[in-house]
Amino acid sequence: DRLISGAATPDEEAAERAIRPDTLADYTGQPAVRDQMGIFIPAARGRGEPLDHTLLFGPPGLGKTTLAHIIAHEMGVNLRQTSGPVLDKPGDLAALLTNLESGDVLFIDEIHRLSSVVEEVLYPAMEDYQIDIMIGEGPAARSIKLDLPPFTLVGATTRAGLLTSPLRDRFGIVQRLEFYGVEDLTAIVQRAAGILDVATVVEGATEIARRSRGTPRIANRLLRRVRDYAQVRADGVITAEVAGRALDLLDVDGEGFDVMDRKLLSALIERFDGGPTGIESLAAAVGEERDTLEDVVEPYLIQQGFMQRTPRGRVATRRAWGHFGYAAPAGDPV
Ligand code: ADP
Repeated sequence: DRLISGAATPDEEAAERAIRPDTLADYTGQPAVRDQMGIFIPAARGRGEPLDHTLLFGPPGLGKTTLAHIIAHEMGVNLRQTSGPVLDKPGDLAALLTNLESGDVLFIDEIHRLSSVVEEVLYPAMEDYQIDIMIGEGPAARSIKLDLPPFTLVGATTRAGLLTSPLRDRFGIVQRLEFYGVEDLTAIVQRAAGILDVATVVEGATEIARRSRGTPRIANRLLRRVRDYAQVRADGVITAEVAGRALDLLDVDGEGFDVMDRKLLSALIERFDGGPTGIESLAAAVGEERDTLEDVVEPYLIQQGFMQRTPRGRVATRRAWGHFGYAAPAGDPV
């Protein structure tokens, strides 16, 4: 699996829980999100109302689940967690909703993957705290309305554009999470190192941060791997040098690129002359799903200025040509 993938692996979840911040004060970076949520949460709590339904979007590993936990914790309510693909039938969602306690947070990850029949159950639930359920079959079937306790839906998705507009319109609060800068990631690594009791000098934390693709989940994962290296091949202390050697060994390069990033950029340059080329052709060239490229690989490459998304397709920038040691062709690349 990709060391640098933003998605959590199942065996990683316990490790993540241990270091997941549970207050807004410990949520590093994302100043706009923090400032706004720092007003909306106490305001709702002060009125004794649930927080408005909140949509969080951004690439995997940037802190959507963490923020849902923080919302529940700071509102002093329970968090119920599920995901779009898990909610197969309308009844699954109805069961969850009718079991909520007043004010609870229901977190639905990958909310863009809800089926349309399940999504329709959500509309009246979000709007009026009511659901319609069908009982019986055929001509005798009838629908009854059930009242739900007031609750907050927190939905997470990789791209806001994947949501249907009736669903998107029902969220009162929409927050977009951005890739983290090196300084914030350094602080995140230092905090995690403190919890894990790993001796880390600031330059060591910075080296990990620089190579983490702007993503806290990756920073924490690299920290765990560098810790192993420091323990076996050094004296246990994570210095810049130790971190650098460990990350080289793990094949994470100085830009934080991993194998898939390099594969995508080099295919774009070597096989498509730097583009423009369509995402489908690129996906076929690197043997990866289009969705994974769009949700996980591309956003960081675009944000870092290695690639551009143009109406005619993907284009490698001068920076990308330079990174692979090629001279960019005259004129064309951006
Ligand atoms: P997502 O739900 O967006 O995929 P998560 O919320 O599961 O991402 O975050 C992945 C890990 O990164 C968490 O275990 C958490 O410890 C860490 N993390 C994410 N955002 C932050 C943050 N702002 N500050 C500190 N740690 C964070």
